[in-house]
Amino acid sequence: RFASLPTPATLEDFDYDAQPAVDRALVTELATCRYLDSATNVLLIGPPGTGKTHLAVGLARKAAEAGYRTYFTSAADLAARCHRAAIEGRWAYTMRFFAGPTLLVIDELGYLPLPAEAASALFQVVAQRYTKTSIVLTTNRGVGSWGEILGDTTVAAAMLDRLLHRSVVLNLDGDSYRLRDHHARTDTL
Ligand code: ADP
Ligand code: MG
Repeated sequence: RFASLPTPATLEDFDYDAQPAVDRALVTELATCRYLDSATNVLLIGPPGTGKTHLAVGLARKAAEAGYRTYFTSAADLAARCHRAAIEGRWAYTMRFFAGPTLLVIDELGYLPLPAEAASALFQVVAQRYTKTSIVLTTNRGVGSWGEILGDTTVAAAMLDRLLHRSVVLNLDGDSYRLRDHHARTDTL
C-alpha cells in the first residue's frame, strides 16, 4: 500500500524547529485526514529543500494508513503519462485513473516548464477532481508565476481557481535542509 511513496518520510519525524514558517497545529489537523472529507486541497509552496516533499509524503502515508485510496506522482510524471495515453488512445482511461484516488499528490510543479499539452492535461486532472477529491500539490514557484510554468495565464488562473477554492496553503521558507550539515560544517571553519 505504501509502495508508491518515494521516501520513508513521516509527519512525526518532521522537525518544526527547522521550519518555523510551518504551523505545527495545522499539520496536526491535516494528519487527521479530515480535510479529505471536504475535498480540501493542500498547497505546499517554497524553495528547494524546505520540506515540501517530506510533508506531502507524510500526508500521503497518513491517508493510506487511514484506508483512503492514495496516489503519489510528480507533475512531470503525470504529464508524461497523459502524453503517452493520448498517443496510445487511452486518454479517457488515464483521466479516470487520476480521478479515482481520494488523495492525489502531485509533487514538484514548477521545476520543469510544462509544454502546453501537459499543462492542459494537468488542468483536466485538477478540474475533474474539483469539489470531489483532494490534491496535495508541491511547488517551488509562488502562484503568481504559475502562468509562466504552465505557459498560459488563462489555464493557470482557471487551475488556481479550482485548487484554491477550498484549500490550505502552507508557505515554507528558509535554507535548504539538505544543505544544513554542509552549512553547519562551513560555519565552524
Ligand atoms: P523539498 O521537497 O522542499 O525540495 P524535501 O522535502 O525533499 O524538500 O527535503 C529535503 C530533505 O530534507 C529530505 O530528506 C527531508 O526529509 C529533509 N527535511 C526537510 N525539511 C525537514 C524538516 N523540517 N524536518 C525533517 N527533515 C526535513
Ligand atoms: Mg521536493
